[in-house]
Amino acid sequence: MNYNVDEKGYYGEFGGAYIPEMLYPNVEELRENYLKVIAEPDFQKEFNQLLKDYVGRPSPLYFAKRLSEKYNTKIYLKREDLNHTGAHKINNTIGQILMAQRLGKTRIIAETGAGQHGVATATVCALMGLECIVYMGEIDIARQAPNVARMKMLGAKVVAALSGSRTLKDATNEAIRDWINNPVDTHYIIGSAIGPHPYPDMVTRFQAIVSEEIKWQLKEQIGRENPDYVVACIGGGSNAAGTYYHYLHEPDVGIIAVEAAGLGIDSGESAATSVLGKEGIIHGCKTLLMQTKDGQITEPYSISAGLDYPGVGPMHAHLAKTGRAEFVSITDDDAMNAGLELSKLEGIIPAIETSHALAMFKYKTFKPDDVVVVNLSGRGDKDLQNYIDYFKI
Ligand SMILES: *Cc1c(COP(=O)(O)O)cnc(C)c1O
Repeated sequence: MNYNVDEKGYYGEFGGAYIPEMLYPNVEELRENYLKVIAEPDFQKEFNQLLKDYVGRPSPLYFAKRLSEKYNTKIYLKREDLNHTGAHKINNTIGQILMAQRLGKTRIIAETGAGQHGVATATVCALMGLECIVYMGEIDIARQAPNVARMKMLGAKVVAALSGSRTLKDATNEAIRDWINNPVDTHYIIGSAIGPHPYPDMVTRFQAIVSEEIKWQLKEQIGRENPDYVVACIGGGSNAAGTYYHYLHEPDVGIIAVEAAGLGIDSGESAATSVLGKEGIIHGCKTLLMQTKDGQITEPYSISAGLDYPGVGPMHAHLAKTGRAEFVSITDDDAMNAGLELSKLEGIIPAIETSHALAMFKYKTFKPDDVVVVNLSGRGDKDLQNYIDYFKI
């Protein structure tokens, strides 16, 4: 079984590039060039240098002693929360801004929901001195004022999407419209392992640094490269794709994917795509997505803005379908409690997205000798108000 993308851009039956004709030249230009560019020594040198000196990599792999004692197994945390800007997203935006430069692009566009990807994009545009336009739903602009302020400070222009539900999917539509109108000078930085081929594969390759580091860090700490399990939360699936990448074809490594169940799988307020999703097309790729009988996309819900996506990247749809990964869904309540637990046991306040991955320990039992690596995708600073409101701190 192959879990990587094939030459046609598919992971099994999922993936591909389902795009309007007007977008074809842009996506085709990227598809023809991305592997060649990534392989260039000059690209590799600059990418790795920035990951080291600007992002602060390698991120530590930390043995969580007290959490391990609590769950009677060996838990290691991959500290992506310590990256510059507070999450894994910067790995991808650094990669894509270098790609854009190599392709001669001078203008960058992005979509954002909660603003995390918008901030990561605005950051690398400031770094490189490139024009940056971030599309964001009008409702999200009101809800996420601090991230809007960050993007503006970083020199980005934040454009409100005024149509539809005025949230992420409408912002994505606006970004696609912009790209169609500006095919020559503009690169569209997508923020997760989603979108038309080659985006899911390109984003996965930029995030693969996570499992590349886990391998040598584990070797250094316990004498072997492979843990028994790797665990990550899944919104679109980029931090998970990076965590799994170098372990996909290692059968002794179990893969656990954690989705947001919101208020509960059957509540109608959830984002558990692998359970509730059906095959369909969203944002240019064929994958599992939550939809009505007529194929209209269902509004997802999760307390964490980063997991609040109605689809899942095509790689993960394939991992779910083939059974290579075990999918678990975690409610808002369980996630919030797991976030508080990590804070108290380890002195680390995680992003609420990440708290979902941690809550898995409540439901799944491991052997005392199992080595379980959890990707700590982001830090909780951005979620402080949510934690305060929830726990009435
Ligand atoms: C955006 C985000 C996620 C979800 O996005 P993926 O592409 O699925 O990784 C998870 N954790 C954090 C901290 C995020 O900011």
